[in-house]
Amino acid sequence: MQQAAYDCVIRAGRVATAVDEFDADIGIKDGVIAAIGGNLAAGTSEIDAKGRLVLPGGIDAHAHIEQLSAAGIVNSDTFQSATVSAAHGGTTTAICFAAQHRGMSLQSVVGDYMGLAKKGAVIDYTFHMIIADPTEVTLKEHVPALVAQGHSTLKVFMTYDLLNVGDEKLLDILLAARQSRALVCVHAENHGMVSWMGKRLVEKGYLAPKYHTISHPRGCEAEAFNRLITFAELIDQPIMIFHVSTAEGVATIRAARGRGLKVFAETCPQYLFMTGKDVDKPGIEGAKWMCSPPPRTEADQEAVWQGLALGDLQLVSSDHAPYAFDATGKLMAGPNPTFKQIANGMPGIEARLPVLFDAMVSKGRLGLQKFVEVTATAPAKIYNLHPRKGSIAIGADADIAVWDPKRQVTLADSTMHDGARYTPYAGRTVTGWPVTVMRRGEVIVRDGKLMAKPGSGTWLPRAGGAAAAPLGRLTADMDPARNFGAKLL
Ligand SMILES: [Zn+2]
Repeated sequence: MQQAAYDCVIRAGRVATAVDEFDADIGIKDGVIAAIGGNLAAGTSEIDAKGRLVLPGGIDAHAHIEQLSAAGIVNSDTFQSATVSAAHGGTTTAICFAAQHRGMSLQSVVGDYMGLAKKGAVIDYTFHMIIADPTEVTLKEHVPALVAQGHSTLKVFMTYDLLNVGDEKLLDILLAARQSRALVCVHAENHGMVSWMGKRLVEKGYLAPKYHTISHPRGCEAEAFNRLITFAELIDQPIMIFHVSTAEGVATIRAARGRGLKVFAETCPQYLFMTGKDVDKPGIEGAKWMCSPPPRTEADQEAVWQGLALGDLQLVSSDHAPYAFDATGKLMAGPNPTFKQIANGMPGIEARLPVLFDAMVSKGRLGLQKFVEVTATAPAKIYNLHPRKGSIAIGADADIAVWDPKRQVTLADSTMHDGARYTPYAGRTVTGWPVTVMRRGEVIVRDGKLMAKPGSGTWLPRAGGAAAAPLGRLTADMDPARNFGAKLL
């Protein structure tokens, strides 16, 4: 018998990329997309996609998985549970974290997380390296060596007592990144304001989860963005601003981009679909909706959507940070904690694509191409995974989610697969669902059933790429032609 031309053909679907939409068959051979066209020859297996949308698998560029917090808690997921959850929601690549804490060797931290992911992941993955202890060894030896090995983003915190690096070390990190050509991702909030407000609220007896939203006053975002952008301009280093939540934050980024600076930015579903009111629940139930920065107001949601529409924000990540609502997670400090004693973060790696698809495709806000762009193509390009990942194109990995655009699903705690065992979207009905999910040509989820084995995901080494390249535009203080000849970069 003659061998089939393809390992698999996805037949007669409506294919969409970030720029196009067309009816086609997709032929897959050896894990990559080998042909896109009409009436392709038979595959060894066939997927009937009539009436379905055939989209690139999602890339979630911000997911905390099996991560140790500064307070010493491991979050509620293993690489297996988080990536199984991701796969059920149509996501086929995750960028997660290798989290250094003070006193730890960055080199061994990265090795440890690589080992955990290799064992458990069912989707492909790559890492951002969290720098919480920017010692000489970390910045001069480990960062250059690790970037050369394919770990090309650094993540830095400007807040949290045990993580924030301070202004001067932030400049050191930006310079180290520039020298190795790594992108720097930042959790940017004013630490003094967050810390002061938290103490003030607790002193006055305002302890419920809802007060968490006020403890990160909105101004702390734009203030830190502005400071960070000023530093990045001084060093001439590209940056990615994580989880933008306020209108003023969006405006600060827009102004910087308007001046031609290389400032990228993401937001998350919680800033598009939730407000501070979601945290206002009886008792400590609101803890489930606590994340940092907190959800804001309807006007902020509008501003963040507008930022996506205009391209000032390029992508939507989940900031998946699961803590179960019990003594292993949110209630670690006991059954009646103050908001300061509750771990921040919510699960979202599974719900991210369905809630966005419902809003953007089913309800039409910004449309199908933009959905593909902000959930797959833009993260692939910015984090230098493109053209292997993030689109449907000849030669790309066959990471494909076949969506039934009509299927209605009511999200519930029990429908999720991650370790948090609750979803902040419980009760929300979405239209559109990924019914078949494929990673490198292998079906990993079919009709809600997991088909992949733990450890079948693979690590994606990446260089910094175009996004991480400095502009070469020096400020007067740094330019030897204008600073009396001082060579500082
Ligand atoms: Zn995060």
